[in-house]
Amino acid sequence: LEIHIVPMTMSIDEEPGLLIVLQDVSAIRRLERMRSEFVANVSHELKTPVAAVKGFAETLLSGAMNDPETAKSFLTIIQDESDRLNRLIGDILELSKIESRRSPLQFSPIDLPMFLGRMSELLAAEAAKKDIVLDVQTEEGLFLEADEDRLGQIVMNLMQNGINYTPEGGKVKVRAEIIPALEDGEEEMVRITVSDTGIGIPKKDIPRIFERFYRVDKARSRSSGGTGLGLSIVKHLTELHHGTIRVESTVGVGSQFILELPLLQP
Ligand code: ADP
Repeated sequence: LEIHIVPMTMSIDEEPGLLIVLQDVSAIRRLERMRSEFVANVSHELKTPVAAVKGFAETLLSGAMNDPETAKSFLTIIQDESDRLNRLIGDILELSKIESRRSPLQFSPIDLPMFLGRMSELLAAEAAKKDIVLDVQTEEGLFLEADEDRLGQIVMNLMQNGINYTPEGGKVKVRAEIIPALEDGEEEMVRITVSDTGIGIPKKDIPRIFERFYRVDKARSRSSGGTGLGLSIVKHLTELHHGTIRVESTVGVGSQFILELPLLQP
């Protein structure tokens, strides 16, 4: 609680008074704390790949370059870490763009079966590398009002995670269906479910996975190229569409991300 006291007189012949303002600043302080935590996390996340690039470049310069085999493996690491840095910067900029509301959503009707088919084509090669089956099932003629690029980011992130956290030979399934309005005045919703037969998420971690940089297993996320920001971007974009997202998961069996968006934007 912050207290401000200001001496005040309304007119010359009035007794001098005091204006006392009591302000509850806990929400402001909490936001400030979250912001500075985020900056600290960002710095830490950026420093790791930069340190790797620098370290391997130094080792190369101080002699490792003379062995072609070693040189090649070190240069590959430098390349991977640079890619990672790029992805991180891209995701951080994306988050800040969403949060500052600098680019408002552009809603248009989207042919969902076609759209999801295209997403699955974009990921087909990557899934094939792990021998993972991508399966899309939608009702024909399902049109959803959304920002096409942003919806793409949401679905791609979820499908990509499905592939990343599913062992070889598994399955990633995408289903879309209409949930009819039950009561008068209720909105018709579209439910898009992305499920996988992957490693699953422990119960205690489920409430936290939409937080920025939260990962159940840092090493695993890192090796699959994750930035730890994907799901927080997904959650933000879902809220901008007036929708919701939740997850059901069983360790060792798989996860299911359930996205519900209004069929028409209010
Ligand atoms: P990352 O870049 O690490 O994948 P995300 O924000 O996309 O970051 O996800 C946060 C964390 O949630 C991941 O690190 C992982 O631990 C967990 N996670 C997300 N999707 C899945 C999934 N389909 N199966 C298992 N764990 C998942």
